[in-house]
Amino acid sequence: MTIPENSPHRSFSESFIASLYDLPDGERIRTCLQCGMCGGVCPFGYAMEFPPNKMIATLRADVFDWVMKSQSVWMCISCYACAQVCPSKIPLTTTLMTRAKEELLLAGNVPTELQQALENSQRYGNVLGQSQRKRADWTKALKYPVPLMGQDRKSADVLWFVGDYGSYHPRIQLVSKAVAQVLAALGIDFGVLGPDENSDGDSQRLAGERGLFETLAAKNGQALRKYKFNQILVTDPHAYNAFKNQYPALGISYPVKHYTQFLVERLDQLKPLLKKAANMRVAYHDPCYLGRANDIYDEPRQLLQAIPGVELVEMSHHHTTSLCCGGGGGGMWMDGFQWEKAQARTTNWRIKEALAVKANTLAVACPYEPPRFEDAARNIREAAELAVKDIAELVADALND
Ligand code: SF4
Ligand code: SF4
Repeated sequence: MTIPENSPHRSFSESFIASLYDLPDGERIRTCLQCGMCGGVCPFGYAMEFPPNKMIATLRADVFDWVMKSQSVWMCISCYACAQVCPSKIPLTTTLMTRAKEELLLAGNVPTELQQALENSQRYGNVLGQSQRKRADWTKALKYPVPLMGQDRKSADVLWFVGDYGSYHPRIQLVSKAVAQVLAALGIDFGVLGPDENSDGDSQRLAGERGLFETLAAKNGQALRKYKFNQILVTDPHAYNAFKNQYPALGISYPVKHYTQFLVERLDQLKPLLKKAANMRVAYHDPCYLGRANDIYDEPRQLLQAIPGVELVEMSHHHTTSLCCGGGGGGMWMDGFQWEKAQARTTNWRIKEALAVKANTLAVACPYEPPRFEDAARNIREAAELAVKDIAELVADALND
């Protein structure tokens, strides 16, 4: 494909390239060795016409428009695997891939499924398109009370940011209930925002919608400023990434802990409460936004090992090489698109890895994962006995109450 010198696409590319190098560490893109490791490690590299290394090659050749006219960029699930292995330490996920998605969105080249999730976020404040008024409905009639900030209290030690899936998705509401049970067992003074909470927006940002991310962040900042609390607890690693790495630049700065970190800090208090022994061979799936993006590998494993009867085993991809569930960077809302292009799901590969180490339980710590892995397990005959459980559920199951 040849793009004429006077094509409007050329100037489009030039402005894009200039903005790319201005990003933090964007200049590193110039140091690419064309080693191909990024494309090799990318879970969908085989299905991309332009994996990251070829994207950089087109930048150099001044034909980046070829990339923008392809669908390659939308195959990126923002998993950080390429950035992790790059010998030139190019932050590919946060620079090249995210910036390219932003540009595609501006050009109106967006998969329909993603468009719907973004519209839901804009209109309703959550990707699931649910009423904000119903955000705390899952807390009703619980054995373990979940206090609502504003209604039940104005201050608390811990502000629990529940997240879209934890609030609305029936499968992940079970995880939220497990977290509530564990917090109650530990006597934690906490509250949730309920209808005041909006989507953390981080996956929308990584899917190219930075403006929407900033709008959602501003609403969350406004809600949080109404209350007194000492720290934020999150159950979603994407929310962790938002609060830890993105919100401070927008003036929303609070100490934040993922629940696995929070519980490990209280392990001396928690461990004596875990009395119900299980008989589980557990493989732990490192979520991209706990592991590679935020270097949290030990705490989830420490929690699992605190549960009586748990034998922890590692799958072939673990810690920094963990295999993405396919939900990041907007992938959660583009399953049809990804399937059409790749004819495979990363979740199927992962289930087979868990079976290969003879695990009877796949433990996860991100709300995107239980429905995705359970769907995959249903389609693999050998996985009929494999349970998919959030670590919070396994901890709650072991409580003696
Ligand atoms: S891994 Fe890094 S250096 Fe190698 S081709 Fe990819 S971007 Fe270039
Ligand atoms: S972030 Fe993950 S999915 Fe995206 S290009 Fe890199 S390796 Fe591929």
